[in-house]
This record gives sequence, structure tokens and C-alpha cells, in this order.
Amino acid sequence: MNSSRRQILMPSNTMQALRKLRPAAGMNIESVPVPEFDPSDILVRVRAASICGTDLHIYHWDRWSASRLNPPVTTGHEFCGVVEKIGTNVTCVKPGDFVSAEMHLACGHCRACRMGQPHVCMNGRIIGIDSDGAFAEFVVIPESNIWKVDPSIPEHYAAILDPLGNAVHTVLSGPVSGLTVGVTGAGPIGLMSIAVARACGATRIYAIEVKPHRRDLAKKMGADEVFDPTVGDVVEQIKEATDGAGVDVLLEMSGNPNAIHQGFQMLRNGGRASLLGIPNRPVELNLVADIIFKGATVHGIYGRRMFETWVQTTELLKAGRLNLEPLFNERMPLDKYEEAFALLESGEAGKILFYPNGSK
Ligand code: NAD
Ligand code: ZN
Repeated sequence: MNSSRRQILMPSNTMQALRKLRPAAGMNIESVPVPEFDPSDILVRVRAASICGTDLHIYHWDRWSASRLNPPVTTGHEFCGVVEKIGTNVTCVKPGDFVSAEMHLACGHCRACRMGQPHVCMNGRIIGIDSDGAFAEFVVIPESNIWKVDPSIPEHYAAILDPLGNAVHTVLSGPVSGLTVGVTGAGPIGLMSIAVARACGATRIYAIEVKPHRRDLAKKMGADEVFDPTVGDVVEQIKEATDGAGVDVLLEMSGNPNAIHQGFQMLRNGGRASLLGIPNRPVELNLVADIIFKGATVHGIYGRRMFETWVQTTELLKAGRLNLEPLFNERMPLDKYEEAFALLESGEAGKILFYPNGSK
């Protein structure tokens, strides 16, 4: 940011923010100045912000967080809100507009960006991880990344467009219509993938998940059958369910090495594996049996395609194709963050929403 061009807003005003203050476990609510912004930026009053598994990693200060974050920083990257003020160069939104945002910032000039793949920008930064995010009363978003939310989309859905976009990106990275789909890991994104795959014409959807509550949710989200991989041979069970062939499409949504191995084994010859889950260590694969001789197509999925995924997600929601209600169970003020993180960790929660400016 060029500080000489910054507009200083309400300089005496402060706001509440949930911040990682030190390189150690925990977070704190802090009173900080309402952020300054550039002429090409938008100041958004946060309506609802959702907790992502990444925020939990940051809360606990795991190895990845320690290697990536530079505290102090305000966390939170899944949100919706209302435009409060716009910079002098901004034309695409006006105060009062209901918005969300793509929080991955692409540089626009690296080779990947120039090749039309800004979602894998080689200099990518994330608001809420590398700079101050949305667990606060206000957040600053560059105009390039703001997303005007269609008025038909309810507020609680608008708050989770980011992870829903992960699910849409993964499901639609290849065909699903008329095909069988296996989803390994029914966390929030796996659960949303089930709904998206169903909406996009998958014929049979099999969810594999270790936690009973999440297997129940998988059913509610539209899975035809759910499997507990700790009971019996899940690869054989899926093969039986698919007339011996295995699934046409694997959506890997757990990041768990066992699930990844089982996922590849249950993929049919010539199938497509799209991998979103992030293992916390390198994972060994049987390339010959699971990929080469299988003629499998393997996709790594990162973030959302800018902005194709946002358009597709909006269309699915506008068409009323996605019922995500089973995912929502908790709405909390920002200062209940310790309770919220504990609940998320228990695996009993779906998407937990914070209301930094108070609830309705
Ligand atoms: P989550 O951790 O809540 O979900 C993972 C689920 O996998 C959990 O329900 C867990 O019980 C289940 N699981 C664990 N071991 C399993 C096993 N052996 N078999 C079957 N299920 C198993 O996370 P989420 O928020 O739904 O995200 C899903 C994954 O995607 C995570 O790994 C997350 O880090 C990753 N992620 C990737 C991107 C990306 O851009 N690639 C973006 C967001 C999240
Ligand atoms: Zn780039």
C-alpha cells in the first residue's frame, strides 16, 4: 500500500477485531483503528464471517501457521458484508451494496496469472492470513477482488461463498453428470461437494467419513450411501456398490493419507481424482497401480478459479439447486471465539458464523 495515497477514514474510530497477536497458541480480541484504505479499495462492514479449518490451525499455531504468518494479524477470510465506503477510483460497487470477496490476491503479472490461472498465482497472498482479515467490524478489500452478492442469496450462504467455491471448483474440474462420485472426508467442504455434485447431475454419491455426526450430515446433504472407513474394507464396499468398477470421480476432501490411498484404490480405471484436502506431511502414492496403469486423471485443486467459480456458484444458488441448511448450527458474537474454536474442533459443528457487528 502506498501510504501517501491512503485515505484515512474516521481516524478517531476504533473497532473490535479477533487477532493473532503473538507467534504462539491462542488469539485475542483487540480494539484497533478502523483500517485505512487506498483509492482502489473498498471498506466493508462485516455482517457475518465463518470459521475455516485454517483459522483453527492458526489458533493452535501449528507448523504451517508458524511458517506462514507474521503476527500481529486479524484473521478470517470467509465473510459477507455491506460496502461502507469506497476509494475514489472504485466504480464496481457503491456504499450499501451487499458483498463478499475472493480473499486470494493474485499479482496479475507472474506466468500463471498471464496464462489465465490467477488462482495459482506464483506470488499469491491471502487476506486474513498474510494481511488483516474479516474477523473484525470492518475489512478492506481491493476492487479487483470484491464480489457483489446476488440479492437472491441469503446472508448465511453469502458468508460461506469461499469454501462453497472450493467445493464447486473441485466438483466441476471435470464432468460429473451421469457419473458416480466418491467423496473422502465429509467436513464442511466435503459436505458442500456432495450437494454440488448432486445438483450437477451425479447419479450415485458415496461419502466416506470417520466421524458419525458428519456421516449423518452427509446423508442430509444428499449422499446415497455413507461409509465408515474404520469398519471393514471400504474399498471393497465401494467396489461392490459400483458393480465392481469403482467410482468414476474421486473428490478427496480429507487430506488424510489413509483416505487418499483408499480414494485412489476405489477410483475406476480411467477415472478422475480431484484433490482438495491438504495432508500435513508428504504422502506416498502407488503411481503404477493407482494412476499410471489406471489411466487416471489427477487434478490438484487450490482456491477458486477467478472468477469462473464465483459465477458458477452464484448460478447454482440462484437456481435454488443447493440446500446447505444442514451445515448451519451456530451463530456467535466475535468474543465467543474460544467456544467457537472448541466446537469446531469437536467435529460436532458445521459452519460456525461470527457476527462482529452484532446479530440481527
Ligand atoms: P475438515 O478437516 O473439517 O474435513 C476433513 C474431514 O475428513 C473431517 O470430517 C474428518 O473427520 C475427515 N477424515 C479424516 N480422516 C479421514 C479418513 N481416513 N477417511 C475419511 N474421512 C476422514 O476440513 P474442511 O474445512 O472440510 O476442508 C477439507 C480439506 O480441504 C482440509 O484438508 C483442508 O485443509 C483443505 N482445504 C483445501 C483448500 C484448497 O484450496 N486446496 C481450501 C480449503 C481447505
Ligand atoms: Zn501472479
